[in-house]
Amino acid sequence: MASAYPVHLVLVGPPGAGKGTQAVMLERELGLKQISSGDLFRENLKNQTELGKLAKTYIDQGELVPDNVTIAMVEERIQRADCATGVIFDGFPRTLEQARALDEMLVLQGSVIGLAPALVASDVIVSDRLTGRRVCRDCGAVYHIVYNLPKVEDVCDVCGGELYQRSDDLPETVCNRLYVYYKQTSPLIGYYFARNLLVRIDADQPIETVKQTMLDAVKAVIRK
Ligand code: ADP
Ligand code: AMP
Repeated sequence: MASAYPVHLVLVGPPGAGKGTQAVMLERELGLKQISSGDLFRENLKNQTELGKLAKTYIDQGELVPDNVTIAMVEERIQRADCATGVIFDGFPRTLEQARALDEMLVLQGSVIGLAPALVASDVIVSDRLTGRRVCRDCGAVYHIVYNLPKVEDVCDVCGGELYQRSDDLPETVCNRLYVYYKQTSPLIGYYFARNLLVRIDADQPIETVKQTMLDAVKAVIRK
């Protein structure tokens, strides 16, 4: 379903709510580009760039990478041609400063955010999803040991790569990531509510149900 203008979506919600899973599905359905700041940092880490080495010191602690570094990385990424039809922002913004910076970046492009779906799920659910998450080492596809199994154990359905558990998905780091979410990221709920962009999505539902709810919400915006 194409729109005449770029459509930018910001997925809000705690780590483990299912933002990445939904972003990949929406990308396919809507022809928008999924940009995950976490994936960009992990790519830098894999390529052993200075940015990757810096980000690692924060990621390992479950802390946020400083705003100036994160904003510059995303700003550079969204200039590329594959973002021209619109972006699904996954994991960015994570602070009010990043949210304001994103608004400014989009204004410079003559664009705005169309919708901010907030994936709502309990702490118990997101902790369970994070500790059971497995990720493909090669393509980054996301699985779960109970809720989203690959066809062959520990092998990626998409590319045949090996699945691994992110070190920041171990229980000791998960707890701090949730704390950081409440302290630094949850104010975004108010930020987007005040701009009439927030739509709450019940993320405590099976993946396909959440996808359909998201699609209905986004298509209503695209039609306008
Ligand atoms: P986020 O990007 O918000 O951190 P992910 O999309 O990576 O979250 O999902 C976290 C984990 O939960 C993954 O293992 C994923 O397979 C699983 N998951 C995602 N959405 C659901 C859902 N609706 N029900 C059950 N498990 C889910
Ligand atoms: P994610 O893949 O979204 O779970 O992000 C993994 C980690 O990358 C986070 O715990 C942070 O350390 C870092 N990170 C990702 N996105 C951001 C962001 N927008 N701002 C700051 N740090 C981020």
